[in-house]
Amino acid sequence: MKKFLLYMMVLSFSILILSGCLAQKESSSSENNLVTMYTSIYPLYDFAQKIGQDKVELHLIVPPGSEPHDWEPTAKLMGQMEKADILVYNGLGMESWAEKVIGSINHSNLIVINASENIEPLKSDKNGHEDEFELKDEDEHEHDHILDPHVWLDPINAITQAENIKNALVKVDSANKEFYESNFEELKNRLQELDEEYRTELSKLPRKEIVVSHAAFGYLAKRYGLKQLSISGLSPQAEPTPSQMAEISDFIKEHKIQYIFFETLTNPKLAEVIAKETGVKSLVLNPLGGLTQKEIEEGKDYFSVMEENLDALIVALGE
Ligand SMILES: [Zn+2]
Repeated sequence: MKKFLLYMMVLSFSILILSGCLAQKESSSSENNLVTMYTSIYPLYDFAQKIGQDKVELHLIVPPGSEPHDWEPTAKLMGQMEKADILVYNGLGMESWAEKVIGSINHSNLIVINASENIEPLKSDKNGHEDEFELKDEDEHEHDHILDPHVWLDPINAITQAENIKNALVKVDSANKEFYESNFEELKNRLQELDEEYRTELSKLPRKEIVVSHAAFGYLAKRYGLKQLSISGLSPQAEPTPSQMAEISDFIKEHKIQYIFFETLTNPKLAEVIAKETGVKSLVLNPLGGLTQKEIEEGKDYFSVMEENLDALIVALGE
């Protein structure tokens, strides 16, 4: 009996080794033959999920509830990313840590995708005042201007980000090309419908000025002819100076602003103070850099939050 047990153990051990070798032959990516993909921020994760579905072992790098601008991965997580098939980051200065990962990849098969490739970036000063980015400025010294990373809030830019993700999946897993292409087409159609809905609804509204917590809505404002003024500039952590506060207050009076917007991931204290001081009401406008755990449990995604944002804009910019 003992001998039999020992024999079975040896046999199952050999099978384990053998199956391990077979799995490795079929795919160098992961033991379950799925494409292993890391995405930095929530919108990229959501697009990747909708395109890759059950063919992808998908990881969201910045965890739910974390403000993505000041987030840093651990060394352990960096090591895990390096072993993956695809790493997708937003770029345009959103993830300062992504450059470290790219710089430290050694003999890895990891494909690193800048999701904002082929999107024309906006530049902004620290107050969130934006102009269209022009290439000629690269030669000039413009220390006060940085690129605006919040491209995903414009559904047309989101199509480009989704396409960059789809192209990476097709490259790594060409056997499932048609699957990824058809899921991307479906996502593209939904994003085009969202764009049309925003265009139709926002064009009906009498007001065009939005006062937001941090300058996340530059691409959205540009696409739909809105004017954004932010309390804390491009980064939610920045504290406005007294002169910036005065500017915001003047803007609110001058444009007879009725509502200001705050976010779900950052402390709304400052927005509340300004709302109280200037006698305006406040509403949530979600920049979608990340969802909270509660929002995920409620089944929210890019589309449902974009619909909520549109509802909030309709209230704030209506008569
Ligand atoms: Zn942001």
